Amino acid sequence: MNIHEYQAKALLRSYGIPVSDGRVVLKAEEAKTAAGELDGPLWVVKSQIHAGGRGKGSFVEAEAGEKGGVRLAKSVEEAAEFARQMLGRTLVTVQTGPAGKQVNRIYIEDGSDIERELYLALLIDRKTSRVSIVASTEGGMDIEEVAHSTPEKILTITVDPATGLQDFHGRRVAFALQLKGAQVKQCVGIVKNLYKLFMDKDMDMLEINPFCVLKDGSLKLLDAKMGFDGNAIYRHPDIAALRDETEEDPKELAASKFDLNYIALDGEIGCMVNGAGLAMATMDIIKLYGAEPANFLDVGGGATKEKVTEAFKIITSDPNVKGILVNIFGGIMRCDIIAEGVIAAVKEVGLQVPLVVRLEGTNVELGKKIINDSGLNVIAADDLSDAAQKIVRAVKG
Ligand code: GDP
Ligand code: MG
Repeated sequence: MNIHEYQAKALLRSYGIPVSDGRVVLKAEEAKTAAGELDGPLWVVKSQIHAGGRGKGSFVEAEAGEKGGVRLAKSVEEAAEFARQMLGRTLVTVQTGPAGKQVNRIYIEDGSDIERELYLALLIDRKTSRVSIVASTEGGMDIEEVAHSTPEKILTITVDPATGLQDFHGRRVAFALQLKGAQVKQCVGIVKNLYKLFMDKDMDMLEINPFCVLKDGSLKLLDAKMGFDGNAIYRHPDIAALRDETEEDPKELAASKFDLNYIALDGEIGCMVNGAGLAMATMDIIKLYGAEPANFLDVGGGATKEKVTEAFKIITSDPNVKGILVNIFGGIMRCDIIAEGVIAAVKEVGLQVPLVVRLEGTNVELGKKIINDSGLNVIAADDLSDAAQKIVRAVKG
């Protein structure tokens, strides 16, 4: 689960980590008052969406002079004007995809005088099964390019969970970031508190870009992205309360309400599969035969007819879906339940695209009979390869 920058900064502040004073604004009328509560003489007006790259992003139908989703204002009036321009607009960045994201909240911050922009992140490194700290002097808006062309400018260290974070970790980060004197001590304190926050809240990602040295020599975190382990959210009602459902894919949101493991993808073949392994194999084989999956969907081992119906509805609500492949191995899950669910769903939402069903396992004969007797235009398949070829042929002709 991700949260907004202003929410992340409130968490940082509560852990004593230096961030600027700021106000969140939902309506344009509130912007002037909000900006007036900050000191100036510089204000930063920041679009709040769950995606990075805002500074270099652009609004759909941008007018002349409108530059990006993060703008510096020199007066309260200008800050209010920028906020008014951004609210309700659609911002496209390298991370939003071409459709962009609607900006519904603005964060107005006290502007800082930046000397250097650095990069600092904490994340779970699956290879070492540890928390890694990633640091680079080359912070700011081009870090992806740095990682690509000059990876030697990025330091990665891992933290042994048995000993936890030690001062030397913080010092290594400070030296890699070419910090001097009192900055080293400040950096050690910041890294320590970031690690504590990361662990306390079961985060899986915490990215500070830019982590700044200001003109007065102090350190400040000017941007923050946080991701939390979805399986641990139940332990953190305070974090769960920060969820902004408008930022989530509506199909993924609907799926989570019915406890379906669903991830939306860009392809044209909708998949309904039971078991994560079989779902992965199904996606692979669709690609092998020359098409792309529109989603990952594991309906789970003990799915009910209602759950299957819901899954089917979610798949068909995706306009990119040009064909559907149902691939079920009935172990705990019975094939007749799946068949009933598919038929109930088709009757409810209609079937505008070809549907291939491959059933195998418990009650497979009954399942096939239910589908055959339904009178629906379903293409039956015998095995995984046969099923994938049939749906790809039906979609691609
Ligand atoms: P992102 O583009 O989504 O990563 O948004 P950021 O919050 O990182 O802001 C983009 C850029 O705006 C930063 O890399 C900075 O160069 C600039 N910026 C952000 N806050 C301030 C500030 O307080 N003062 C100044 N001068 N620039 C800022
Ligand atoms: Mg940034």
